[in-house]
Amino acid sequence: MNKVVLKLGGTIMALFLIVLLPLGYVANQIFTNFYYSQVQEDIEDLSHKFALTITSLEDEDFTSMFKTLADLTNKEILIIDPDGKVIVNSGVQNPTLSKEDIKQLSGGKPLQKRFDNSNRGSSYLGSGHPIIQSNTFKGVFFVLAPINDIQEPVGKIRDLLLLSAVGALFLALGFTFVLSKKMSDPLLEMEQATREISKGNLDTRVDISSGDELGSLGKAINDLAFETNRYRSNRREFFANVSHELRTPISYLKGYSQVLKQGLYQTEQERLQYLNIIENETDRMVRLINDLFELSKMEEGKIELQMSNLNLAEVLETSFFKVKIEIEKKGLTLKGQIDNGVPDIEADGIRMEQIFTNLLANALRYTKKGSIHVDVWHEEDHVHVIIEDTGVGIPEGELPLIFERFHRVEKSRSRDLGGTGLGLAIVKNLVELQHGEISVSSQVGTGTRFELRFPVAGKEAT
Ligand code: ADP
Repeated sequence: MNKVVLKLGGTIMALFLIVLLPLGYVANQIFTNFYYSQVQEDIEDLSHKFALTITSLEDEDFTSMFKTLADLTNKEILIIDPDGKVIVNSGVQNPTLSKEDIKQLSGGKPLQKRFDNSNRGSSYLGSGHPIIQSNTFKGVFFVLAPINDIQEPVGKIRDLLLLSAVGALFLALGFTFVLSKKMSDPLLEMEQATREISKGNLDTRVDISSGDELGSLGKAINDLAFETNRYRSNRREFFANVSHELRTPISYLKGYSQVLKQGLYQTEQERLQYLNIIENETDRMVRLINDLFELSKMEEGKIELQMSNLNLAEVLETSFFKVKIEIEKKGLTLKGQIDNGVPDIEADGIRMEQIFTNLLANALRYTKKGSIHVDVWHEEDHVHVIIEDTGVGIPEGELPLIFERFHRVEKSRSRDLGGTGLGLAIVKNLVELQHGEISVSSQVGTGTRFELRFPVAGKEAT
């Protein structure tokens, strides 16, 4: 038996007893009182009537008629003369009246009295009325009911009450057991599931579909397992990617430094070429490590943004300047269409520039001929930026994946062009940190279009 069942069961039973015991007591009292007063009324009524009807205390026929009448209702009668002497007695043992009793009765007042028999035999509840004839007190007429006769039905009712209380108690016990099991079984199942999950069995699921709090706790555990599982496979994939990304430049570094060390080159030009490769690969590693560091800071929410009101046209100007020479070298054209009076947005200038430089660098990297087009305009509460190129494009199936870390459409091309595979992941993170949104559309062989949207300063959703 587990603790929840005990606690819950104990509480329900205690509540049950708290309600049932006083209720039983009160019911018992009500029945007893009701019965007693019923009998009391009966004997009072009878003794009154008999006291009024009796005409002669000596006439035996008359008194035996009263005895028969009383007998019919299982009552006893007593007729007592004004001195307290019993004249007629249908069967009560040693009935005695005190002087006070006689005094009260001779004064015309009826008397309720309990006749207890100390030896054996029954006790009686009696009601006496004075017999008054021609204004003279002639005696007392008592009608008595055996107490046993009253207690018997009361006892029966008490037994019935007790029986139903025991029945209810067993019913409550059964109900408590079923209820607490119903509550504790899912809890135990969830406990087991969480233990399994904490052991690393992340495919464990809780099978509880009730719509109550237990159901939502079960769902929360399942969600936790799902998220942890996803996190674990993400982490695995991430480490595999990082080691793969580092392995390539390191093997270049090792190979070419060995070549140089062993003097395996013919000309000075060849030697310089190898040194260049070593330098480029080292640069790539530095870039990769910087990007990784940056991304991990962002994902842990540890990046600090210097937010201020920014004019996007000015930021783009700086980014253009950085890629301009490269663009011209490649024979591409850079066209900008920036609306006048675009409102400020609230963002970090350096981070915003990083976003555009990254996107422009990608456009440059994946475009052989044609142009790179930048559009900036504003619509209602948002400033829109479009960076579009006439490059190789991205297949439709790849579009949802390109913002993921290390996802590259063509690994070797990206690598040859100096990409780390982290650029767009960083861009997306930075955009979202500054309350913006980014989307992409593309057509293979025609070009790619990135669209960004930032809220106008002061209109950010809270
Ligand atoms: P990388 O360092 O490889 O460029 P990114 O995260 O910047 O990494 O981009 C992810 C991938 O998305 C790239 O490898 C490339 O395949 C694709 N991509 C990004 N920008 C463009 C673009 N303008 N044109 C075509 N493909 C692109």
